[in-house]
Amino acid sequence: MNRDIMIAAGMKQAVERFEDGLCATCGNEPGVFKDALSRREYGISGMCQPCQDMLFDFELFGFEGEEDNETI
Ligand SMILES: [Zn+2]
Repeated sequence: MNRDIMIAAGMKQAVERFEDGLCATCGNEPGVFKDALSRREYGISGMCQPCQDMLFDFELFGFEGEEDNETI
């Protein structure tokens, strides 16, 4: 997680959660991850598995038709 950028973006609470070992998005314990990729994603975005799944669904169905989607 890039701490300075997150704080500059007004996400101080998310940074504090992450530093407490919690999910930056929902504030719950991150718990178990599906695979190494998801665990690595937690290190980058601070999101627990359910939050990652939610974002993935959102990206999958939320931006249908756009061509510049990033592949995680
Ligand atoms: Zn979460």
